[in-house]
Amino acid sequence: MAGTSADTAPTPRAELGVIGGSGLYALLDDVTEVAVDTPYGPPSDSLFLGEVAGRRVAFLPRHGRGHSLPPHRINYRANLWALRSLGVRQVLGPCAVGGLRAEYGPGTLVVPDQFVDRTSGRLQTYYDGLPLPDGRIPEVVHVSMADPYCPDGRRSALAAARDNAWEPVDGGTLVVIEGPRFSTRAESRWFTANGWSVVGMTGHPEAVLARELGLCYTSLALVTDLDAGVETGEGVTHAEVLAVFARNVDRLRTVLFKALEGLPTARDCVCSHALDGLETGLTGV
Ligand SMILES: [Zn+2]
Repeated sequence: MAGTSADTAPTPRAELGVIGGSGLYALLDDVTEVAVDTPYGPPSDSLFLGEVAGRRVAFLPRHGRGHSLPPHRINYRANLWALRSLGVRQVLGPCAVGGLRAEYGPGTLVVPDQFVDRTSGRLQTYYDGLPLPDGRIPEVVHVSMADPYCPDGRRSALAAARDNAWEPVDGGTLVVIEGPRFSTRAESRWFTANGWSVVGMTGHPEAVLARELGLCYTSLALVTDLDAGVETGEGVTHAEVLAVFARNVDRLRTVLFKALEGLPTARDCVCSHALDGLETGLTGV
């Protein structure tokens, strides 16, 4: 109803964001659900705002509640835009991946420092020169992606894992495939032969879009299975992935919260300067 206090109440804000499963914020007290629309359409779900160690955090279920969205149908642009519109400037992106080396078995936590894009057909930029519904026209700009992840975010994630006696793999390459199918053995062996570490389906364009908005983005990749080229048995099954993720969700949440706590309160990283000197055409970006 127009004029009620509910309509005029300011939208809750957050400074930190997490794109991941709903199990990650399920135990938080006082979670506020905020529906956000964007010029790119709706994000995967509402944003769920809560507090972690005194920091305001917005959680976004990447696949929607009920896990209804497969990786190739996620509206990545809307997701990052929605987080930024609530004030989020630093994002942690936990995800499930397959290990491409025998030593990266289920339960390994990798904090990658590179990715390789093997997706196809995903909308992966805000700067395509096409007008938005509100009339703004983004310029075609090219952001640096040499080092796609936030150095401060990576440092915080690695420290958080070590503090919880979960020795992480510091660095490595996440190859992102289109999915939703898993890799063939030949693809998987090729990834391994290239020296890549883990394979997932959501890391791209999530990291790219964050950088295009000047957001910090850090990937925390939990290995749930050995990929087909490493696996000596029947290859990856969905049930196996879910089971390993479920076994690790508690400690992943603990590490994630510690990593959030360790993020800097003022930014001066490569991500925060990604748009310096660029005219984007998007007001406020
Ligand atoms: Zn950063």
